[in-house]
Amino acid sequence: MIVELVSTGTELLLGQIVNTNAPYLAARLNELGFSVLYQTTVGDNRDRMKSVLQSAIERADIVITSGGLGPTQGDITKEVTASLFNKSMYLHEESVRRIKRFFDERRLCMTDNNLRQAMMPEGALIVENTCGTAPGVITEDQASGKIIINLPGPPHELAAMTETSIVPYLQEKFGIQGAIVSKVLRTYGLGESALEERIKEYILSQSNPTLALLAKNGEIHVRITSRAADEEQALQLIHDLESQIRPLLQEYIFGTGEETLEASAGALLLNRNFSIALAESCTGGLVSSRITDIPGSSRYLTGSIVCYSNTVKIDQVGVAAETIADKGAVSPETAKEMALGIKNKFQSDIGLGITGIAGPDGATPDKPVGLVYIAVAGPGGVVCHEHYFNGTRTNIKHRTALAALNHLRH
Ligand code: ATP
Ligand code: MG
Repeated sequence: MIVELVSTGTELLLGQIVNTNAPYLAARLNELGFSVLYQTTVGDNRDRMKSVLQSAIERADIVITSGGLGPTQGDITKEVTASLFNKSMYLHEESVRRIKRFFDERRLCMTDNNLRQAMMPEGALIVENTCGTAPGVITEDQASGKIIINLPGPPHELAAMTETSIVPYLQEKFGIQGAIVSKVLRTYGLGESALEERIKEYILSQSNPTLALLAKNGEIHVRITSRAADEEQALQLIHDLESQIRPLLQEYIFGTGEETLEASAGALLLNRNFSIALAESCTGGLVSSRITDIPGSSRYLTGSIVCYSNTVKIDQVGVAAETIADKGAVSPETAKEMALGIKNKFQSDIGLGITGIAGPDGATPDKPVGLVYIAVAGPGGVVCHEHYFNGTRTNIKHRTALAALNHLRH
């Protein structure tokens, strides 16, 4: 079966957002055994969208669109789909009720244009949207047997709908037997090419399970996907391959699936019965924020100080004024005194001190933008790690937070 993907939305063409829906769908469809031969992006323009969908449905058995199911005049994907299959549009009462309920539950006022989202091509299958208001639509053309599936643009809505409704629909419709199971190993600290080098042999030789790498927000995810007659056998295949590649990546793997670095660091702190306090300068509280994203973090986080000014570093955290005067606020000495000072002040087992130059100003010839010191003070003493990060101010803060969380694991 041949599938074609059509991503709609003028913001994609303007380069304002990155298209993540198409790669996600392509990967899922390939896992199911479909061939994705073309992917097109088109703006919210009726004529051009019609022409793109027309070509797509001539070449493929199934066309999946993303975006343009919203309530505004620019949201036209369903109408274009209906017109291609010569179907009229009607108001789908159940969707009206669902959309009304969505607004009521959030105490929001529904405007009339929201009802556009309940207009459906006649004869179409309506797919519930569990995370938003716009239902998805599956329209089958009786004469040709071709199918157009319209999914909403917001990635979490599209993914939820795909997993709960579209994949089961396709499996049933095309008699796809057996189970497809994926497991993601999340790594931090190795670049994509270095990681690939370590497991290249497996990437090249594997056909079931398959191995794929995905760089995501400073992490590299290794996705293992297997197909088998049933779920148990598929899981066994994953387990076998995982036990071969784990030793090659051991120290870099911090979790699986949805497990984050902060969850992994938090679990280790809990396990060792350690409490932690933070003195954050250049990250402005970002590391503390991520730590508190984990439910139950109150069991190990005592507190934090965002010590941005030298005065606060000295008066509140206990860094010696001479250290800052002699070595600078961004120095291993200051980072170590921040870690020791906050540990002492909050009577915690671990103290973390973070100081760096997030830029774009503030660099000197020997201290470039992106230079960051992360010190960890623990029962056995204090160590300081030096990093040179690149990117924008936000990138540097984000990378510093990842590195700090990772240091807590070692
Ligand atoms: P809405 O009801 O939110 O308008 P929609 O189905 O009409 O949803 P769009 O208006 O096309 O979808 O897109 C909504 C938002 O979803 C976009 O602003 C963008 O943030 C995100 N989005 C849309 N398409 C993509 C895509 N291909 N990849 C990543 N994000 C996307
Ligand atoms: Mg929209």
